[in-house]
Parts: sequence; C-alpha cells; structure tokens
Amino acid sequence: MRNAQILKMIAGFRRFREKIFLREDSIYSRLDMGQSPKTLVIGCSDSRVDPAIISSAAPGEMFVVRNVANLVPPFESAKVGFHGVSAAIEFAVVNLKVENIVILGHRRCGGIHALVTGSQKEDSFLGQWVSIAESAKRRVVERYPHAEVDALCRHCELESIVTSIENLMTFPFVEHAVKVNGLQIFGIYFDLEQGELLVLDEQTNSFRQIQLEHSAQP
Ligand SMILES: [Zn+2]
Repeated sequence: MRNAQILKMIAGFRRFREKIFLREDSIYSRLDMGQSPKTLVIGCSDSRVDPAIISSAAPGEMFVVRNVANLVPPFESAKVGFHGVSAAIEFAVVNLKVENIVILGHRRCGGIHALVTGSQKEDSFLGQWVSIAESAKRRVVERYPHAEVDALCRHCELESIVTSIENLMTFPFVEHAVKVNGLQIFGIYFDLEQGELLVLDEQTNSFRQIQLEHSAQP
C-alpha cells in the first residue's frame, strides 16, 4: 500500500484502536450488541462539518446521514427509485425510535452555492439533488432581491433547513412520531467562519445564536 492518504487512514485507525477500542473500559465493549442512539442528524457531506466531531459525540450517540447540502427530500413511494436518505430516516425513526432529529446546516455549503448560482446542469445528480431546496432559493431571492451571491448563499443555507423540516413532516412515520411519541425536530446551523451555532426558532421562523456559556440545549 503506497497511497499516502490511505496509509494516513490506517495509521489513524491504529491510534483509534489502541487509545479507544482496546481500552479496558472501551465503549465498544457495550456497543457490539447493538445501538440505541437518541438523535438522528442529517448533515452535509462537506469534509469540514462532521457532526460527531463538532459536537464531541461518542460512538453510538448519533445516527447520522450525510448528503450534499444536508437536504431531506419530500416523501415519495418507496416502490419507485432508490431513496437512501429516506431509508435512513425510516430506520432511525421506526426501528431505532430516535427522540430527536437535527437538520445540521452550515456556512459555505458547496451544495447550496451550486443551487444559488445554478452552476450544475439539471440532469446532473448534483443539480437534481439540490433542486430539493429550490423553493428555499425562491423565497430568499424574493426577500433579498439585491443581495450578492455570498449573502444569498448564507440566507439559502438557513432557509433550506426550513424546507428540509417541512419535507421531513411529509413522511407519515415522522408525522406520527412527532404527534404520538413526542419526536422533536431541530434546525441547527454551524457557522464555520465564526465558530458559532444557530438554532431555528419555530415561533419566529428565524435563527438565533445559541449562547454556549449558559446552556448547551437549543
Ligand atoms: Zn454543505
């Protein structure tokens, strides 16, 4: 094996194995029988925004699905096509019975930039995928008709979280879990320029900064 990046991965696994996996009190000695995460996180594939790293989560804490621009597609029949994100949501809500779902957006999202600038062909997988947030883009452009691309992207990064939450509620098993089981849904935004977290306030439909020194709860 001569590939430097893969060698780095293997060296990293060696450190992980020695420092975490093989410890006498290793969390993996409890996790090998199964998982019971309380939270489903839908995050972006972006290499800078790993949900477990930015929240210092332990193995087994979060069930994570990552995709371009942390989008949730609207509910569609399972009989047509292949629905990876929907399958992960179903597994988390129906099988694992998570108590929370977090849509985790972030600043400088390449997927949202592609949506805002229309830089991808519609028949590309990427262009088609980010069109899930087309309605968010439309709302942002109407609200800020004179904004520069960079500002539009930021607004759209936030607004697309609202769209994903709306789409989540089109899944019958999500709606049922919210109404019957008390499943809670949160929209959270990681500002990787400022190192801040924002949370969607559903009362005002706007985002506010989470005060970290007072509370870790959104
Ligand atoms: Zn992104």
